[in-house]
Amino acid sequence: MSEFDVIVIGGGPGGLSCAAILGASGAKVLVLERKKQIGRKVCAGGITWEGLIQRIPERLIERTFTEQLIFSNWQKIRLRRKNPIIATVNRESLGQWMAEQAIRAGAQVRTGCSAREINDRSVTCTDERGNTFTARFDHLIGADGSTSAVRRFLNIPTRRIGVGMNYQVQGRYESMEWHLNTRLFKNGYGWIFPHQESLSIGAYRPQSGIPPVRFKKSLVTWAETRGFRLENVQPQAELINFDYRGFQFDNKWLIGDAAGLASGLTGEGIYPAIVSGEAVARKIIDPAYPAVEIGSLAAKQTKHLKIVDLSGGNTALCTLLMETLLFLLRLRLINFQKQLAM
Ligand SMILES: Cc1cc2nc3c(=O)[nH]c(=O)nc-3n(C[C@H](O)[C@H](O)[C@H](O)COP(=O)(O)OP(=O)(O)OC[C@H]3O[C@@H](n4cnc5c(N)ncnc54)[C@H](O)[C@@H]3O)c2cc1C
Repeated sequence: MSEFDVIVIGGGPGGLSCAAILGASGAKVLVLERKKQIGRKVCAGGITWEGLIQRIPERLIERTFTEQLIFSNWQKIRLRRKNPIIATVNRESLGQWMAEQAIRAGAQVRTGCSAREINDRSVTCTDERGNTFTARFDHLIGADGSTSAVRRFLNIPTRRIGVGMNYQVQGRYESMEWHLNTRLFKNGYGWIFPHQESLSIGAYRPQSGIPPVRFKKSLVTWAETRGFRLENVQPQAELINFDYRGFQFDNKWLIGDAAGLASGLTGEGIYPAIVSGEAVARKIIDPAYPAVEIGSLAAKQTKHLKIVDLSGGNTALCTLLMETLLFLLRLRLINFQKQLAM
């Protein structure tokens, strides 16, 4: 049986950032990723100035936006800043780059490998050919996203989870838009995030259990008001976990969506995944490392959850809150970059 200092389940941004730091420290690290190729993920690919824009190579950035258009039922505002407020990345390119960093640092990355059975000190996996193998670990990292098997193994419930649906459409579009349409998305929103040769049109709602047909209908109806006909395009949807309950459980750790560190308000999760992955790696290397970054993420998330909870009641109250939020943004009494990004 192969033995590793650390096994990371999940080759998303959280798992790969964690593996890169652990690998560079000389630890023997194995990343298990069930998809054949690293990087593909249902996502709008939005990253923020305060978050990732300044941390990744410029060539990975598809478009940058110094301007954001935000619509509510009754208002429209245009936010402008000197620096890009949000940029878009292609998740596949970001993932490939992060995998290269992890491998260069010494981590082993196995794709097409699904972790099937977790035990206290070992993981059993199945590879693409259906072969099964078991590997032992000193530390296990659950970087396996919003439906994490490691989280289930640890018996940690997930009660707060949202859903995002995305249509990737070919074409060019100039503005980056957020639509706080409470009639269709309640306390969620619809977005248009332009990429280089395509655009992500989607919606997020901070509740699961919404019938997919209804969610899709709301999204298609709204997109039509922006001039996009989506009936013949295939959407993709995934859950976004924002039920954070800790990151260390003896020799098992949770990061990113598996830990529930995404924002319940916006669904932003790439940056929290990377930051928590790096912090956990540093804590494994040096148990005295305080990992305050995760505390900051959790504190930001709690602020976002207050808005989600306040606006989650009846639609009239939700509309009032969204209109107030926009009004405060218009008056610059809320800083979009500082308060709404993770
Ligand atoms: C529609 C939509 C739009 C979004 N848009 C944005 C956005 O614009 N900006 C933003 O910051 N965030 C966005 N997010 C959220 C973001 O995608 C996630 O928060 C982020 O990917 C979390 O990273 P992660 O590494 O924790 O998990 P993931 O990226 O989910 O990676 C987990 C990995 O684990 C693998 N895995 C799972 N189970 C196993 C197993 N048993 N064995 C092996 N591998 C396994 C999966 O295949 C996956 O590759 C969006 C989400 C959705 C659904």
